Amino acid sequence: MTDTGPPRLGPNGRPVRHFVMPGSLGGRLRVWRFIIYRRLVQVGLLVLFFGTAHWGWNVFGRPLLQGNLSASEVLGIIPMADPFAVLQITLGGVVLNPEVWLGAAIVLGAYGLIGGRTWCAWVCPINMVTDGAAWLRRRLGVSDIFHVSRNLRYSVLVLSLVLSVLMGVAAFEWISPIAILHRELLYGIGMGWVAVLGILLFDLLVLRHGWCGHLCPLGAFYALVGRVALVRVAFDTPTCTHCGDCARVCPEPQVLNLRQASEAGMIASGECTNCGRCITVCPEDTLAFALRPRIDAPAGGTNHRQVHT
Ligand code: SF4
Ligand code: SF4
Repeated sequence: MTDTGPPRLGPNGRPVRHFVMPGSLGGRLRVWRFIIYRRLVQVGLLVLFFGTAHWGWNVFGRPLLQGNLSASEVLGIIPMADPFAVLQITLGGVVLNPEVWLGAAIVLGAYGLIGGRTWCAWVCPINMVTDGAAWLRRRLGVSDIFHVSRNLRYSVLVLSLVLSVLMGVAAFEWISPIAILHRELLYGIGMGWVAVLGILLFDLLVLRHGWCGHLCPLGAFYALVGRVALVRVAFDTPTCTHCGDCARVCPEPQVLNLRQASEAGMIASGECTNCGRCITVCPEDTLAFALRPRIDAPAGGTNHRQVHT
C-alpha cells in the first residue's frame, strides 16, 4: 500500500486539485469548446476566401471576401490590410494608396480591441500547423534540442523592418509561411508546402512552440499591439491553488506569471493569444474571458476577480 500523505495545499489553504478530463462527451466538448470555435473561425475564413475566388460567392453582386490575409476586401467595400506588411512595404519605399492605409487602420483597431495575438490563435492558418506539431510532440514525448529566448522574435521583427529599408521590399512578406500556406490552400499544391513542412518539423523535433513562440515577427508585432487590448483573461486570485495546469497547456506559458496576474487581476501580457486553453483546464474556474474595464485590480494582489455585469 502506498502512503500518499496529506494533500498539498495551495497558498489559499485549499488542497491542490488537478485537471481531469471529463468522461462524458458533453464534458469533453466543454473542455474543447475554444479549440472548436477557433478551428471554425480559421477554416471558415479560408472557405470564404476560397468560395469567393473559385465559386464567385457574392452578396447582391458584391464579392464576399476577396484577396488574401495580407490585403483583402469585404463585400467589395471594406478594405483590410495586414499592418505589419503595410509597415514593411512603406519602409521599403513604396507609396501606398489611402485605401490600404484605411485597411491597415481597421485591422489594427480591431486587434487593438480584441487582443493582438487573437489573430494568432483564431485566424492565422499556421496556428493549425504549430498546434498540430505541439499535439504530436505530447503524444510522442519529444524533448527540445535547444532553447532560445522567446524575445528572439522581437529581434526578428526589427531585422525584418531594417531589411525592408535596405532591400526596398517587404522582407518578411517574401518568406512569410503564413502567406505561403494561404496561397497553397487557395490556389493549389506547390513548393510552398516545403516551408510549411519545415515549420511542422522544427516545432515537432527541435523546439516546442519554436516558430510561433520564438521566431515569428508577425506574432511579435501583434504581441506589441495586444498590450492595450480590451479582451483579457481575468484572474481570480483567492481561488488559485497554483496547481500549474494552466501553464502546462499554454503555448506561451510565460504569460501565466501568477504574481503579475494577481496584481493586475488578469493576464496582462500582449503575448497571450487569447486561445482560452487555460480557462478550460483550470480546476478552480480561476480564469475567464472578460473586458478590461470590467476587471477590478486593487493594489496588493489579493483581489477577487471582479467582473462587473
Ligand atoms: S506567431 Fe506568426 S505564424 Fe504563429 S500564429 Fe502568430 S502570426 Fe501566425
Ligand atoms: S489558474 Fe492555473 S495555477 Fe491557478 S488553479 Fe487555475 S490552473 Fe491551477
